[in-house]
Amino acid sequence: MPQESGISSPNSNPEPRRFPCARCGAALQYAPGTDALRCAHCGYENRIGAVPEPIEEQDFRQTLRTLAATATTRESIVIHCDSCGASYSFDPTAHAGQCSFCGAPAVANTERHRELQIQALLPFQVTRDQSRAAFRQWLGQLWFAPGKLKDHARHDSSLAGLYVPYWTYDAETTTHYRGERGDDYQVRETYRAIENGREVQRVRVVTKTRWSPTAGVVSRFFDDVLVLASRSLPQAVTERLEPWDLAQLTPYREEYLSGFRSEMYQVELDQGFERAREIMAPLIRRDIERDIGGDRQRIHAAETRYADIRFKHILLPVWISAFRFRDRVYRFLVNGRTGEVQGERPYSAWKIAFAVLLAAVLAGGGLAVWQVLQRGG
Ligand SMILES: [Zn+2]
Ligand SMILES: [Zn+2]
Repeated sequence: MPQESGISSPNSNPEPRRFPCARCGAALQYAPGTDALRCAHCGYENRIGAVPEPIEEQDFRQTLRTLAATATTRESIVIHCDSCGASYSFDPTAHAGQCSFCGAPAVANTERHRELQIQALLPFQVTRDQSRAAFRQWLGQLWFAPGKLKDHARHDSSLAGLYVPYWTYDAETTTHYRGERGDDYQVRETYRAIENGREVQRVRVVTKTRWSPTAGVVSRFFDDVLVLASRSLPQAVTERLEPWDLAQLTPYREEYLSGFRSEMYQVELDQGFERAREIMAPLIRRDIERDIGGDRQRIHAAETRYADIRFKHILLPVWISAFRFRDRVYRFLVNGRTGEVQGERPYSAWKIAFAVLLAAVLAGGGLAVWQVLQRGG
């Protein structure tokens, strides 16, 4: 097999690595919030023992050239969902069943992936029990949620701990711009007005802007611009899980994935950088406006050069439960670090209609009925 730097080595064994318990041999799982794998069978804790290795950022352009020149793929057993397109690692302790991202039926398959190595991750802090409690609490608050959804909480087997793929980019940017600087000044203007049926002359102060052409250069270093590398989760949903404590990133160890699923990235390295540029753009624009100065600014042209672009492929932990209701997908997510909860909620149409009706009929005694409804699910 040929050797390629930066690209994961071909793996002859497509199954995920198992970590047997040192005491009883059962399969170990990573215990959130700890630095250990815990045996579900005998409770023995097996320390991961982190090696203090630096997290190495990779050179962006060099890696793109290497990727283009090679066709290295890795065969692995993954769960694939035709409905949302997600591919994520097969976990022998959980059955394939429903897709973790959209709730559609998903099947285990052997797939070939061209994958860049994972440099770092944030290990789970929030435990399954904590996320389950958060999920039930969230459902309890959903007064308008259909009863079927609440049944879902009692069979919360779909609640999965997932590592979601992300890219981070660093870049040294230099932007040449052309524009105009606007300086405001006041002038006194006389005008005619009709007052009490008579024409009079009045004075008012008017603000005007003097525009003068300008050009310049601004530069800014961007560190760890975070870009979602998944297409299975809507960006609007994942953005609400931010911020992430990226300063706590841990060098990648397969042990942290034991007992969890991890999604294969779908946004390619170069596509991810396009998104990173969009994230950088408003900051560069603000720099230019500050550089122009004055009271108002116009930017006619701006050209940015990105030098020394470096990236990391990282995994971030999310507890997720996806379910389908009347052909729509709803997701409940928990930031696996902070426990912050985000969700997409369905509404029960008849409950809303009933509530509107009630509100019209009742004014004072409404609360009691409200509580009855809430219990009714
Ligand atoms: Zn054991
Ligand atoms: Zn899916």
